[in-house]
Amino acid sequence: MKSLAENKIEVAQCSGFCFGVKRAMRIAKEALDKNKDAGVYSLGPIIHNNQVVEELTKEGLKPASLDDIKKGVVVISSHGAAPKVFSQIKAKGLRVVDATCPYVMSTQKTVEALSKDGYFIVIFGDRRHPEVESLMGFSGGTAAVVKDEKELGTIEFPHKKIGIVSQTTQLPANYIKVISAVMEKGFSEIRIFNTICSDTQKRQESAAALAKDSDVIVIIGGKMSANTKRLFEICSNICKGTYHIETADELKKAWFKGAGRIGIASGASTPDWVIEEVKNKILMIKEEGMGNG
Ligand code: SF4
Repeated sequence: MKSLAENKIEVAQCSGFCFGVKRAMRIAKEALDKNKDAGVYSLGPIIHNNQVVEELTKEGLKPASLDDIKKGVVVISSHGAAPKVFSQIKAKGLRVVDATCPYVMSTQKTVEALSKDGYFIVIFGDRRHPEVESLMGFSGGTAAVVKDEKELGTIEFPHKKIGIVSQTTQLPANYIKVISAVMEKGFSEIRIFNTICSDTQKRQESAAALAKDSDVIVIIGGKMSANTKRLFEICSNICKGTYHIETADELKKAWFKGAGRIGIASGASTPDWVIEEVKNKILMIKEEGMGNG
């Protein structure tokens, strides 16, 4: 990558909504258009970005718990849901509109097939993330979640046929550590699946390239967004001046004092208009030439 010119603000090549989030937004908006009177709900945030969730709430999409929904349509988020959740929605006589990202769906199918074929499954990811909860649901209870290779020591493996998958937004380097540690345990059969999505990989690579060439890099995305947290992790290992914000209001003038080369990277659920607002506010800070905020 060419060097950033002094006093230039550059946005990472891969930024804004990913394919799965664009698709989930389109599906949610279509559900809202077609079911204006019935009531359209999501079980928690449809994507991990507060600004987008607020926008959709204004348009009529109501985040709710299943117990509180009496009638209407339930939109499944891009992170997916366990089969049990689909059954519960249908049992209540509600309609399901499924916005699960196809990459997540593919991992769910892999987990389901491994479970049916008698494999014990190691899922590398954050056990409280809805995507990982959905994968656990598809495993039929024959899986364990680990956040790193050290946690493998806490698992009692019931047999020697092992399948390994990763949450779609993890770092490949960390996934490789988990895979290597499983290999060292001497199982007779191990099936490894690369389930990290291609958008995540491209986004991580373009953020890392930009961080190498920046004095300050601002990562924009929801505080609950797994892929945004990974971008922050990657960039802060490369560039000391790495900051994670959700909106332009969180920018501090002091961050940019003496910084000539500024990069901006965004999580997969950050809309372009938030990126533009952040860019404009940084430009304003630079033009004011202030650095004492
Ligand atoms: S980050 Fe990847 S897996 Fe997640 S919604 Fe976007 S495209 Fe799908």
